[in-house]
Amino acid sequence: MVASEIRALFAVAARPEVVSLAGGMPYVSALPLDAVGQMTGDLIARNGAEVLQYGSAQGDPVLREKICEVMSLEGIQASADDVIVTVGAQQALDLITRIFVDPGDVVLAEAPSYVGALGTFASYQADVVHVPLDEGGLIPSALSETLERLQREGRRVKFLYTVPTFQNPAGVTLTQARRAQILEICARYDVLIIEDNPYGLLGFDGEPMRALRADDADRVIYLGSFSKTIASGLRVGWALAPHAVRAKLVLAAESAVLCQSSFTQLAVREYLTTQPWREQIKGFCELYRERRDAMLESLAALMPEGCTWTNPAGGFFVWLTLPEGLDSKAMAPRAIAQRVAYVPGTGFYADGTGHRHMRISYCYPEPHRIREGVRRLAGVIEAELQL
Ligand code: PMP
Repeated sequence: MVASEIRALFAVAARPEVVSLAGGMPYVSALPLDAVGQMTGDLIARNGAEVLQYGSAQGDPVLREKICEVMSLEGIQASADDVIVTVGAQQALDLITRIFVDPGDVVLAEAPSYVGALGTFASYQADVVHVPLDEGGLIPSALSETLERLQREGRRVKFLYTVPTFQNPAGVTLTQARRAQILEICARYDVLIIEDNPYGLLGFDGEPMRALRADDADRVIYLGSFSKTIASGLRVGWALAPHAVRAKLVLAAESAVLCQSSFTQLAVREYLTTQPWREQIKGFCELYRERRDAMLESLAALMPEGCTWTNPAGGFFVWLTLPEGLDSKAMAPRAIAQRVAYVPGTGFYADGTGHRHMRISYCYPEPHRIREGVRRLAGVIEAELQL
């Protein structure tokens, strides 16, 4: 295990004079905090003996029913018995890797990929093989070529890890047509898919995308989270897995933590039962859309020629590519000196590439701070081009 570059960066980025486009923190202040406080107090007064007690390792059964209702918004039909509640989606990733991966096994992941997943895969000594993505998400032809090559080399692929919707860090979404192709390719090579989808309900236009899991219940393990749709500090996420896998995940969870927090599980259950959560999510979408717009408008107005960036239709992140010859990692201290922080692209590749890229997020700073942050960043890049 190695320290994440990103964690180190966050300490500096948290200084008030720095505009941080680095973090991926949801804007939880937009929650109706008084109502949540009232609800939680009532819950303990009314139901404290359950709320403050151990629970089952699989998680609260009523919450698991509610989770199925949430997933139905993405076309998923599931039984609560196939759901396990976890300490954020992050624990689900850890448990899945623990039960499937032996040192040296191949895990496929998008290039770039979610840094927290790469850290987990590394901790179990997986060999991460990247498959490129573009504006339409993971590239199907690249996936089949990679699988063909690995098969020729006799390498065992344990699973494909993908964030198909509003990807972290690239901000791109797998198109509907590609979804069918990815499922078909994985069926052909008999590869399991881990669909990590914490941002799926945070789209800015129209209805939620149909999940991969909606069209293949046997091959896809789906990970969800309330971190972005309610609050990240509650640490409530889940996995939906084929029955036999779910049973192993429960055993792994038992050995890791005995059971998840009853308190936060029941708080989420209560929230989903008593609060207008669908409207609240719509409110989050509006807030993040305004911030996305502020970022894209300032990028278009201010970025030097040669920079390109993605155009997210939801979620938290824009992926920016620097002009040829620039290095986002080398530039980071100079950006901090100019009071703007971002995450260098290298953290999102297991092989340490990605120097020309960076992740900039619009989820947390208010729009005027985003504009100021992009203005400072554009100045840093201009100066870099003069070096
Ligand atoms: N997957 C992805 C793609 C994420 O961006 C995150 C949070 N940054 C997680 C999983 C973990 O989320 P949590 O553990 O808070 O549910």
